[in-house]
Amino acid sequence: MRMPLIAGNWKMNGSLSLVEEFGRAFAGVSLPVNVEVALMVPFPYLGVAGQALGETAVTVGAQTLSDRPAGAFTGEVSGAMLRECGARLVLVGHSERRALFGEDDAAVLARVQAALHEGLTPVLCVGETLEEREAGRTEAVVLGQLEAVFEALDTAERSRLIVAYEPVWAIGTGRTATPEQAQAVHAALRERLARYDETLADGMRLLYGGSMKADNAAELLAQPDIDGGLVGGASLKVDDFLAICQSA
Ligand code: PGA
Repeated sequence: MRMPLIAGNWKMNGSLSLVEEFGRAFAGVSLPVNVEVALMVPFPYLGVAGQALGETAVTVGAQTLSDRPAGAFTGEVSGAMLRECGARLVLVGHSERRALFGEDDAAVLARVQAALHEGLTPVLCVGETLEEREAGRTEAVVLGQLEAVFEALDTAERSRLIVAYEPVWAIGTGRTATPEQAQAVHAALRERLARYDETLADGMRLLYGGSMKADNAAELLAQPDIDGGLVGGASLKVDDFLAICQSA
């Protein structure tokens, strides 16, 4: 059985007071016991998030990391620093990193390896653009992004990843993939993982992301190969995010 994971991705949003508000709210509710919840906050909020959420079941994560371990790399943040500040998960290869910050498959792989080396759980993001979908290339694109990482890892490393399918055209647009569209891609991802190893494919958590909201989460999460959500905009409001967690 795969434990569903609902992960909030704040991107470059939020504030210290919002972190504290989430801490208070999550301390006062009981989440479903069979759901894992995580919040991926901007670097400067990691420490405070760890404290504010420390008494809750919410895990703290980061949104990217350097591919280097340490050294003269001004502005970079290493996996070891993230761990030290309480992060347990880290997004890698989010489409905004790929499109806006030039992270190609090689850069994504290097960050996955850096995260694994520091004992962090990488959440590998894959997803096609609208043009790629309309050209019938969805599977080729997402499976290519998956393989660029998985091919380079060994069996033990592969089993430590989480994968998030986020169609680029659904991110921040209010245009969610239909449950059928999302399920089809998740099934293709799982089938490809099974070529490495059936046990890996059965155990791998595949999250859906892209305009997931309180009112569409339940039907997406009901799909057999959707094991959770990566939630952007709706993770910035306590009530919306809680509602999504409750519906998992
Ligand atoms: P969204 O973002 O929920 O605002 O569409 C999802 C993401 O980018 O992770």
